[in-house]
Amino acid sequence: MHLILVAEDEPAIRDVLRVLLAAEHFRVVEAESAGRAAIEARSHKPDLMIVDLGLPDRDGVDLIREVRSWSPVPIIVLSARTNEADKIAALDAGADDYVTKPFAARELLARVRAALRRSATGAAPAATITLGRIVVDLARRELHGTPADIHLTPLEYRVLENLARNAGSIVKQARLVREVWGPGQANDTRALRVCIRNLRQKLEPDPKRPKYLVTELGLGYRLRPDP
Ligand code: CA
Repeated sequence: MHLILVAEDEPAIRDVLRVLLAAEHFRVVEAESAGRAAIEARSHKPDLMIVDLGLPDRDGVDLIREVRSWSPVPIIVLSARTNEADKIAALDAGADDYVTKPFAARELLARVRAALRRSATGAAPAATITLGRIVVDLARRELHGTPADIHLTPLEYRVLENLARNAGSIVKQARLVREVWGPGQANDTRALRVCIRNLRQKLEPDPKRPKYLVTELGLGYRLRPDP
């Protein structure tokens, strides 16, 4: 479970964030000031921070700069400040993303998930994977090699991307479903199984005996691209 540190002085907004994030199965630590947030960041080592800029003791930009001096934790700014200079200052200080208040819950959650994904994969995930005679360009969502007439659907790309980011490791079914179809579908693995079957039809030399897209019984799947 990811831990998210929320630095926000308005109790009403903290309440909203707590409920929202808990519903997505994030754990939440709250701080009502920059000083408190800096302490909590060091003691809890959160997976992501959401930082308000208008904090009572110090500016949120200062907090971001301080945390960034020792931690690569993803930081999303949540601020009522909408002008470009404030956004640039926050990003220059080391913030990864900027959401303005009032915010849309779904958008904020999408940004949170995206930031967590990026941090899980490092700054530069493998851009291409090689599966025998097929090369998948994940960044451009293109297939190269033979046969030349294969096309993947957006969902198939997302499943493949997820597996490719963790190439060589087991990715649990529930996690794949959650990341590709969303948290509400975590128990429905049927669509995932169909998607995997289609990917194998398209990518495996012998779809009945998968070599690249391997099932780990009871756990999930593992992508084993050629080196
Ligand atoms: Ca504030």
